[in-house]
Amino acid sequence: MHDDILLGGIEAGGTKVLCAVADHDGTVLDEIRIPTTTPAETLGSASAFFDAVTDERGPLAALAVGSFGPLSLNPVASDYGAITSTPKPGWQDVDLLGHLRRTISAPMSLDTDVNAAAVGERLFGSGQGLDTFCYVTVGTGIGVGLLVNGAPHGGANHPETGHIRLPRAPGDESFAGTCPYHGDCLEGLASGPAMKARWGQPAETLSPDHPGWDIEADYLAGLCATLTYTVRPDRIILGGGVMQNPAMYGRVRRSLLAKLAGYDASMRNLDMDEYVVAPSAGPSAGLTGALALAYRTATRQWPMHWTVTSRGDLQARPETINA
Ligand code: ADP
Ligand code: ZN
Repeated sequence: MHDDILLGGIEAGGTKVLCAVADHDGTVLDEIRIPTTTPAETLGSASAFFDAVTDERGPLAALAVGSFGPLSLNPVASDYGAITSTPKPGWQDVDLLGHLRRTISAPMSLDTDVNAAAVGERLFGSGQGLDTFCYVTVGTGIGVGLLVNGAPHGGANHPETGHIRLPRAPGDESFAGTCPYHGDCLEGLASGPAMKARWGQPAETLSPDHPGWDIEADYLAGLCATLTYTVRPDRIILGGGVMQNPAMYGRVRRSLLAKLAGYDASMRNLDMDEYVVAPSAGPSAGLTGALALAYRTATRQWPMHWTVTSRGDLQARPETINA
């Protein structure tokens, strides 16, 4: 069943857009890396790629996109399928799915980049075997993907958990924050650019004993506590550029344990080393997740038969295109 279907996946990021076509096993057949410039140029190149591949191989059974946002994801909204109030210049109110629909005739689905990455982590990474977990990226922004009962969380629209407000970390009483909308929301206080603005140097250049790391860990632990109280996930996966500092995991775990303060036996007994972890599905988890979303759009099922071998293919190839 579904043996001959072709799947399209797009991971749309602020610096690059990855497009791939895969078979029913998740093996990538063709792919391309497109720099994110103007919407017309970038989406034009993406459409041209799928045009060329489908001319050669036949039509797509479905195409799924995991994108930076904010996105309009409610199918009944008049702007469904659009990137809305993004700070990325030139990309406000861009009809992402509409652009693709002009040349590609396949059922399409759209979700956030972090939800797509969460799907990728569930199939091949740190979310394997889990039904409810959070995927957090701490990079240029802070984004949270939620897998709830095995499926990406939807709703009236996607949540914006990166913009919650948290109590100030000790020692961080005066920094105004960098969020253009809220100032000192979580993203405004704890994204990579926020660290750079507060300390006058990029996070990756701060010394290991710099006080900035404790402040950062306090905010991320505050996010993890909020996610624990609201979602009660099986696990929280913390990724993104700022989490490249491996010492962050221990600091976040310790701070989270202190914040939970022994409340509720099921929380008190959490094994923090298992609860707050790094991603492990590789740099192309978002693209893998988009292809899995396409599989679900085409078949109404998750591709739980995709194997580590096909994941290896998926991983190896985007590294080639990153080169
Ligand atoms: P994006 O969010 O644009 O996809 P990343 O997830 O790579 O990109 O995040 C970029 C941010 O991560 C930058 O603000 C950068 O300063 C920060 N960063 C990159 N490497 C490190 C590191 N080793 N330690 C801490 N911060 C880092
Ligand atoms: Zn904000």
